[in-house]
Order: sequence, then C-alpha cells, then structure tokens
Amino acid sequence: MNASNNAAAFLPFTRPAIDEETIAGVAEVLRSGWITSGPQVKSFEQALSAHCGGRPVRAYNSGTAALEVALRVAGIGPGDEVITTPLSWVSTASVILQVGARPVFADIDPVTRNIDLDLAERAVTKKTRAIIPVHLAGLPLDLDKLYAMAGRHKLRVIEDAAQAYGAMWKGKPIGAQGDLVMFSFHANKNVTCAEGGCLVMGDEREVPLAEKLRLMGVTRTGEDGMDVDVAGGKYNLTDVAARIGVGQLKRTEEFTARRRALAKRYFDRFDRKPGCELPPADFENSCWHMFQVVLPPSMPRATFIARMRGHGIGIGVHYPAIHLFTLFRNLGWKDGDFPQAERIGRSIATLPLFPAMADEDVDRVCTAAAAVLDQH
Ligand SMILES: *Cc1c(COP(=O)(O)O)cnc(C)c1O
Repeated sequence: MNASNNAAAFLPFTRPAIDEETIAGVAEVLRSGWITSGPQVKSFEQALSAHCGGRPVRAYNSGTAALEVALRVAGIGPGDEVITTPLSWVSTASVILQVGARPVFADIDPVTRNIDLDLAERAVTKKTRAIIPVHLAGLPLDLDKLYAMAGRHKLRVIEDAAQAYGAMWKGKPIGAQGDLVMFSFHANKNVTCAEGGCLVMGDEREVPLAEKLRLMGVTRTGEDGMDVDVAGGKYNLTDVAARIGVGQLKRTEEFTARRRALAKRYFDRFDRKPGCELPPADFENSCWHMFQVVLPPSMPRATFIARMRGHGIGIGVHYPAIHLFTLFRNLGWKDGDFPQAERIGRSIATLPLFPAMADEDVDRVCTAAAAVLDQH
C-alpha cells in the first residue's frame, strides 16, 4: 500500500496524510454547489480558534498572504524596518518588501537555528516597528524572552508559525498567546489544506481589517450594500481547501505524537559523525515539522542528496540563507553578513519525517546516511 511497507520504494522527505473521511468530505463540498469561501471556511476558522485559546482566526489562501496581511494590519509600510531571520522560507522576508518596508536580518542561534534574540535586539533602530521570528522546524522560540524584548522597544510581533502548528510553549499551544501569529497549511506542513494559511489575532479590533484585506477590501451591508475603503488582496481560502483542513485538524495531536516518536528514534539511531549537528532534543514544545541535520563541512550537501537518492531516500533543503538570494544581494546584503545562517543554510539537510512513516523507515535513513557519510 504505502512506501513504508516496501523497503525498495522511494521514501520522500515528507508526504501529506489525507484520510478517506476527508476525501469523502471534499467530494461532498464539490457536489454542494458552493465551492469557494463559505461554510467550510467558517468551520475551519472555528476549529483553529478553539486550538488557539478561543482567539479570533481568519483563513487565507496561503501563509504568505496571511503574513502580508499581518504586516498591513500592524500598519507597517514605507520607512519602517522589520527585524527577521535570514534562515527561513523566502516568504518571511519577501512580505516585508511587499508592503514597502525594509527587512533587517539578525543572525541565528546555531543550536536552535532560530533568530538570536540578543542580536535581534541589537538590530533595533528608531525605525524598527516589528519583528517576525520563525519557529523553524516547529521548535518554538523562547516566547518570554521574545515578548519582553518586543515590549522594551514597543515592537509588534508577527510570529511566523508556518511550521509550528501543534507546537507548545509552557503548556499552551503556539497561537494561543502573543500578538499576531501566522500558520501555513501548505502541502508539506504538519496540517495541510493543499495551500492555505491563517492569522491568529491578539486584538479583536484588528479582525475587520484582516478580513477586508483578504477580499479586495470589500465590506457588505444589508441586502445590497457594498463599499471598498482599502485596497485589499484576493487572498480568500476556498471551501474545497478548507474541508481538507477540517479533516486534518481532528488529527493534529496524533500527527504531532507520531512525529515526536519518529524524531526520538532518529536520536537513538542516527550515528553522530564528527561534525554532524543534530537539532535540539525537545520532546515537550516542538511539533517536529522537520528533522534536520547539519552536515560536516567535508560533505557537500549536493553529494549527500544525490547519494541518499541512490539509496531511495529523499532529502529536503530548508533553507539557503535568504540574504544571499539575488533579490537581497541587489539590496546590499553580501557573503559574511550572517555567518551562522550562511554556514547552516549551506549544509542543513532535512531527513524524511512524516506521520505515515514506519519506525523501520527511520532505521533505513540512518543506515544509508551512515554509509554515505562514511564514504566521505
Ligand atoms: C511554508 C512557510 C511559509 C509560507 O507559507 P505558504 O503557505 O507556503 O505561503 C512562510 N514561512 C515559513 C517558515 C514556511 O515554512
């Protein structure tokens, strides 16, 4: 049936787990006569809100759209600076440019691979209005330290929690506390609706703008009233996608538990070659979106990927340092600006980790990785 039952089958680094109940539910939506934003989006938002301590949640057609809306809701635009990490998916920094503001990067902590909050604080200027930290691989940042720092400098916080649905901080889910929190439901994330995202808000008063910005700024009143007072995006989620999400949310705890168990097995079985860096062994807060190792300097990542593919194993790259992309180099960033993000961005490798994986799949990855690293 699936790859885990067949040792010879290719093992991808991730694969979504969509159950038959969800597939039947999607078919029902398709037959219902209402396929774009409607009752399924409302149900999805309600379930998300329940997970996030009852806070208001609005859904979007991507996490990127939700991040951009968050910046606009916070009133960030030209002349403003926003501090973020250079080690993330490019969306995290691109949205800052999209709203006309200036990204300011601060290097990462090489152990957690998340933004180093001391360096972030040193990057604060008179123009700094917000910080977008990322809970990379589902490992939360220290929220107490983050919000204390933001408070000292009166910064808005937009948590890029794209990879952190199901992660915890001090016994509460990520999203149930804090300022603005974005989740992504892209196909590779821990819970998915193929493409989608949401914004959790700490302040009810910001909900109407967050809602307007996802549908061209339109507000409707009465039977036929329509007005537009702000230029919005076309960022609404479809009911087809939302129904996938509804099916996924019921399984969040099961998914997270399985990911944690597989991560534990990686710690037991992965042969720590000299120079190989494993992630922090956190089994309390992290939702284990990815299991990433930093390869020894002597092992080029491209070689590792090609040889692992030879063993029938898919390896992911998440991510090269953002500031070294052409778009950002053209804005003045260069090699050497953020040494930790650059080093890790060059040599980080994502090993297979998804809920339907068998324990033996982890063993197979570890055996292959040991062989590939030994060869070197
Ligand atoms: C996936 C992801 C995003 C963007 O989410 P989309 O839904 O793909 O737009 C942003 N930041 C991080 C860290 C991500 O992993």
